[in-house]
Amino acid sequence: MAAVGGKGLPLASRMYKSRALGLTLGFVCVAFAMYPLNPHPWVWALMLTNAFVWPHVAFLISRRSEHALRSERRNLLIDSFCGGFWVGAMHFNPLPGVTTLSMMTMNNVAIGGLRFMLTGWLAQGLGIGTALLVFAPAFVGVTTQAQLYACLPILMVYPLALGWICYRQAVTLASHKRELLALSRTDSLSGLLNHGAWKDQLELEFQRCRRGQTGAAIALIDIDHFKIINDTYGHVTGDIVLRRLSKVLRQNLRATDLAGRYGGDEFCVILPDMPLNRATEVMDALRDRFNALAYAQDPTLRASLSIGLAPYQLGHVDSTSWLNDADLALYEAKSGGRNRVSSVQVGWLRSV
Ligand code: GH3
Ligand code: MG
Repeated sequence: MAAVGGKGLPLASRMYKSRALGLTLGFVCVAFAMYPLNPHPWVWALMLTNAFVWPHVAFLISRRSEHALRSERRNLLIDSFCGGFWVGAMHFNPLPGVTTLSMMTMNNVAIGGLRFMLTGWLAQGLGIGTALLVFAPAFVGVTTQAQLYACLPILMVYPLALGWICYRQAVTLASHKRELLALSRTDSLSGLLNHGAWKDQLELEFQRCRRGQTGAAIALIDIDHFKIINDTYGHVTGDIVLRRLSKVLRQNLRATDLAGRYGGDEFCVILPDMPLNRATEVMDALRDRFNALAYAQDPTLRASLSIGLAPYQLGHVDSTSWLNDADLALYEAKSGGRNRVSSVQVGWLRSV
């Protein structure tokens, strides 16, 4: 059994408020319909218990339950049964009867859809049947004006309250969805775009360049001898170096540039609307900053970057061929001695 205040608490307290409100307003509606029938004191006691004691009991049951939703569904069926019982007890007085049944049906469909609505109707039917056994079957065909006014508070307030609860739920769900989407596109270690999200952006930039709207460059950035850093200082320090590089990227790029972690110790950047010579300057400055930062923290920890740059060219058949150019440039930077920026020159012939 879950501790008090366990995982069922948010649902239980939401339902507690709406049940307490609904049954209080429902009591006014039912009491006005029952009064002319001159019911026995035990019927009044039952009515008061249902309206003012049951919401607290239902709350206690739900918040202690391991399965709050299951427990609340059970409570709602009890509500439906009681609703049906009072409809029978009121001798089917039209307006209070329909109000009682429809408010409960609204609850049921909101929490469990059509299937649960049908189960709720069954419970209401059982309640009506029980009332017919307890009270002499009769039919009051006319709702008096006082009874009509007694139904107005619940008719006005309860749908408003339930609509508000559903709206808040929808807002919360939408915000969770946004958070999940952002998480699914983020690399957890660096906080930058992950591989898939960055590739999606690359495809979009490629299409933009192809439509002739702009020129752009992409960069692949790889930490030199990162394996040695890991082996010498440990993986925790390795992670710190990776995070430091992502921070350098965030601090030294424009808001429109798109940085991501390609994988392992390799990072990637899209530089929209930037000619190759400017991109080379930016990447060189970034390389210097990273070197200086690594050295400042630990003079024995030398970390440098090799960077491959590729501008968009008309000959690129797709975003992959553009990326391949950046990869070739990175290879050149590595084989040329590392700690440098290499680029694919405009007009360079590629074998397709
Ligand atoms: P090069 O100069 O040629 O790039 O050599 P390198 O050692 O940097 O390249 P290599 O591909 O041999 O090694 C990359 C290392 O990065 C190997 C892998 O264990 C390490 N690595 C990959 N992901 C992570 C990570 O998330 N954290 C840490 N600490 N290490 C990682
Ligand atoms: Mg490396």
